[in-house]
Amino acid sequence: MKTWNKRTKAVHAGIRRSQYNEVSEAIYLTQGFVYDSAEDAEARFIKSGEDEFIYARYGNPTVAMFEDRIAALEGAEDGFAAASGMAAVNGALTSMLRAGDHVVSARALFGSCLYILEEVLTRYGVEVTFVDGTDLSAWEAAIRPDTQAVFFESISNPTLEVIDIAAVSKLAHAVDATVIVDNVFATPVYSDAIAQGADVVVYSATKHIDGQGRALGGVILGAREFIRGTVEPYMKHTGGAMSPFTAWIMLKGLETIDLRVRAQAATAKSLAAALQADGALQNVIYPGLESHPQHALAQSQMGAGGTVLAIDAGTQAAAFKLLNALEIWTISNNLGDAKSIATHPATTTHQRLSDDTKATLGITPGLMRLSVGLEDADDLLEDLRQAIAGL
Ligand SMILES: *Cc1c(COP(=O)(O)O)cnc(C)c1O
Repeated sequence: MKTWNKRTKAVHAGIRRSQYNEVSEAIYLTQGFVYDSAEDAEARFIKSGEDEFIYARYGNPTVAMFEDRIAALEGAEDGFAAASGMAAVNGALTSMLRAGDHVVSARALFGSCLYILEEVLTRYGVEVTFVDGTDLSAWEAAIRPDTQAVFFESISNPTLEVIDIAAVSKLAHAVDATVIVDNVFATPVYSDAIAQGADVVVYSATKHIDGQGRALGGVILGAREFIRGTVEPYMKHTGGAMSPFTAWIMLKGLETIDLRVRAQAATAKSLAAALQADGALQNVIYPGLESHPQHALAQSQMGAGGTVLAIDAGTQAAAFKLLNALEIWTISNNLGDAKSIATHPATTTHQRLSDDTKATLGITPGLMRLSVGLEDADDLLEDLRQAIAGL
């Protein structure tokens, strides 16, 4: 399997077949497992083997299939599936940190990630320094000999800054800090984060991995010792496990993720180029455009610009008018979905932030995040153009 390419791993990796030899992965909707004897139960609690399960909060065959498949796809030794992307982000950080530790994090983060770093970790005595993630000298200045971890979104939400995984990892590894990357916007299709230096990669599976807006999920990927020795004890006792039914949805999502994400990214690129050429908007942000400040980095790190773009209509009133005029694009806050989704971050996903913080992060009143789906690219462009024409 090691020699398989990503598309083959996405379909076959991790399969565990029952005695019936089913083609499609079985859903083991069970909370527990029966032991052959009291001695067997005792032995399993002392040390369970790879395919010996105890309780679904600890692990389950359908969940294990998902963990093995996404780990293979990402090039990670192992993975632990979580109930949501946030359970995964929280698990990756909280399982390894303790009072007195120091963390350096990029400032441009998804709202809930920011909450964990700014509000939760600090409450338990972890010191967090925030930096402009695109500025390597800021990382260098903030990382100290006692820094335990660095955290960033490889492409930030919603302003699409691209962070240099290899360069930040090099700085972090010089002091033996663990590099934790929230890789949602890069997707497993375009990610090479572990090879580029990340120690731990976290996904919200709710996004492209499901890709059809059905279920919440997340996963923490990394070295076997970190996943089984540090993450698993924390996750299994604090209850952030993924349900077997969700794991099955995510397994089926992985089978088609390559086709979906490549189609979405191709449409995103064509929309961004067309909207920029139209010149009717104040700004079009997309890492796949040459005008993007980290375009070259996006190309070398991922080979593509991703499935999300951001546009700025100038004012909140114009943004609302544009959103309300859309016929195909839905107003919602998921991303990576088959359905194209438009979001106004300043009043929804990033509402909690102060005006100052929003300004620092580039979350302007007119900014809209566009998650490109699987509809016809011409239809999506036509819909945006008619909404823009109405401004
Ligand atoms: C959505 C998202 C999360 C959280 O994932 P959930 O599955 O909604 O809990 C974390 N980080 C990023 C970058 C996201 O886009």
